[in-house]
Amino acid sequence: MHQLCTSKGQDTEAGAGARVDLGLVRAARKTIRDLVVATPLVRAHSLSGTSGAEVWLKLETMQPIGAFKLRGASHALARLSAAERRRGVVTASTGNHGRAVAYAARRLGIPAIVCLSALVSETKARAIAELGAEVRRVGTCQDDAMALADRLALEEGRIAVPPFDHPHVIAGQGTIALELLDALPSLASIVVPLSGGGLISGIAVAAKALNPAIAIVGVSMERGAAMQASLAAGRPVEVTEEPSLADSLGGGIGRDNALTFDLCRHLVDRVVLVSEAEIYRGMSHLFHAEGLVSEGAAAVGVAALLAGKLPGLPLPAALVISGRNVDSDQFLRVVSGQPVTLGDHSVQG
Ligand SMILES: *Cc1c(COP(=O)(O)O)cnc(C)c1O
Repeated sequence: MHQLCTSKGQDTEAGAGARVDLGLVRAARKTIRDLVVATPLVRAHSLSGTSGAEVWLKLETMQPIGAFKLRGASHALARLSAAERRRGVVTASTGNHGRAVAYAARRLGIPAIVCLSALVSETKARAIAELGAEVRRVGTCQDDAMALADRLALEEGRIAVPPFDHPHVIAGQGTIALELLDALPSLASIVVPLSGGGLISGIAVAAKALNPAIAIVGVSMERGAAMQASLAAGRPVEVTEEPSLADSLGGGIGRDNALTFDLCRHLVDRVVLVSEAEIYRGMSHLFHAEGLVSEGAAAVGVAALLAGKLPGLPLPAALVISGRNVDSDQFLRVVSGQPVTLGDHSVQG
């Protein structure tokens, strides 16, 4: 297993041992102020009902790269020393983290390499190249891309920027909670898409420091819920990855997980799983009822709510709509009610 992007790379990176607390999240907010958008929080009329019970949507879809990952990546890169910046950064992320690193690196004038395997579409690769990063194509699977990122870090001294298991990345994502509680001090719960757990850990650290009573709920897809399986097992475990509408939630938490597993264990109140059909309905609902374009990963909270899987959710609640980077053909099929093929089966609302 090649884990450099999420573990060994940290040995060479300044600040890897920092403690994630409210102070670090507040510092992150100042550091990334000019690099990210303080996103809108809007009331979801279609989900709020007539009782006055309120559901709000935090629109991370409005970030420049279309996903919240810009917060963590911007913070991690902005914290690098001048000497580290000259060495440049490297990542093997195929999705929103890769875009975020590319975008933040260009804004900060740091050379970035994104390693991609043949599995990653030309469209995605071009999008990352257009953001100014050097794309290196290698091998046939994500492990090959991670191996190259490993090598570039070890042999060329590049700084590896992990997608979730790093204090500066987690603190960057946590800035969402500061914006939420500034806008809505009475907030009683936050519903967060959950994969490696950087997003929910940062949010939970900051939100619970400000209001220990606030409920933090994670939502993952049924197919390959690595953090949920790990929490159930009491240690990081690997799960089989399967194609999902929530492709941004794919991947494991890392066998050597240093931070997010423990943070989730202590701070997350509940984890809920949703099916592919439920995610399909969540995406469709956000478009037809709220006029929002969202990717599958971003729609899992709405999916859980619509499926009745969040009974007794403390209100007001904020659902983090984490991103909007979805294949347009897939999105058009979902919002027009047509079946979508995922691996060897098809899904429909
Ligand atoms: C990465 C990502 C997530 C999950 O974030 P983690 O920190 O890995 O839990 C959720 N939604 C979108 C759109 C993402 O890109």
